[in-house]
Amino acid sequence: MRTVVSGAAGFIGSHLCDRLLAERHTVVGLDNFITGNPLNIAHLKGHPRFEFLQQDITGPLAISGAVDFVLNLASLASPRDYLEHPIETLDVGSSGTRRMLDLALSKGARFLLTSTSECYGDPLVHPQVETYWGNVNPVGLRSCYDESKRFAEALTMAYHRTHGLRTNIARIFNTYGPRMKLDDGRVVPAFLDQALRGQPMTVFGDGSQTRSFCYVADMVEGLYRLMQSEERYPVNLGNPCEMTILEFARRIRQMTGSRSEIVFQPLPEDDPKQRRPDIAKAHAVLNWQPGVSLDEGLRATVEYFRGLHATVA
Ligand code: NAD
Ligand code: UDP
Repeated sequence: MRTVVSGAAGFIGSHLCDRLLAERHTVVGLDNFITGNPLNIAHLKGHPRFEFLQQDITGPLAISGAVDFVLNLASLASPRDYLEHPIETLDVGSSGTRRMLDLALSKGARFLLTSTSECYGDPLVHPQVETYWGNVNPVGLRSCYDESKRFAEALTMAYHRTHGLRTNIARIFNTYGPRMKLDDGRVVPAFLDQALRGQPMTVFGDGSQTRSFCYVADMVEGLYRLMQSEERYPVNLGNPCEMTILEFARRIRQMTGSRSEIVFQPLPEDDPKQRRPDIAKAHAVLNWQPGVSLDEGLRATVEYFRGLHATVA
């Protein structure tokens, strides 16, 4: 199998490349490094079945040879990143996704889109099921991300319906683990970095908003199963273990043995109040459910961040 992965130097993309190589795929990784890190794929340099092309997927793609799978992970993904680059975010979700769909079509390959729980916006249905259409502010600050992914989903379904392309759509919920960027502003690296440095942990709002955190190895397993499935409609992938952000801050402080104080800062615009995936469909269709507990996943992530701190110090 020869598989093209966009966003290969990113957090989830780099882990997915590792998994595909372990499954004997030949992998062509694409990334323009707008948020990705060359270190995430440095260990793959010289791998006989891994090729990397520094490439913006919104531009023309020249991939020679046969391709069996096209996996589209390229996007700005953290609120800090997409708020800084709203136009690039809309562009990669629209033009970038179209380029990747055209690549799959021209090669007779299968296509997988990594979409997001943000398609549900600030949800009025809880937990979120795939049949819920969402509550998204189309002109708010976060709309550049939410609407780019909603457009990407619509485009993917249009290619399936118009051209018979074999497509899959993963709606990914908050995922964490090694290789996240320390400074990407997402809550896991933010809290871990602050706790490990003994600096104040910044809880936005009163911390009563909820999230459900999935470890990256579980996410990669879900994506790997989904890319081989015949399910064309979106499938939620995430860990249904839900907690408030304040509880999460306390949990991280306790497990790192940190004495950081918890401070409260204003809640960002349109920050969803609650989020938990209903994963019944993933269980039924993919026989998938997460297996890594929060403590286990956080321990591995803390170890990674401690390593980064040691390198920086
Ligand atoms: P990430 O920022 O670590 O990785 C995304 C990668 O895409 C980066 O390496 C970036 O440089 C690359 N990229 C962005 N625009 C590009 C372009 N125009 N051309 C080529 N490369 C480009 O983010 P991640 O957390 O690994 O997310 C991977 C995918 O999963 C994204 O599509 C994201 O929207 C989705 N997702 C992630 C989460 C999560 O919690 N991590 C949740 C929901 C959805
Ligand atoms: N958050 C926080 N402090 C931070 C970063 C994030 O309280 O330093 C909150 C944020 O407001 C949101 C939740 O943590 O309610 C998850 O934020 P993240 O940016 O990781 O992802 P989101 O789920 O919002 O896309």
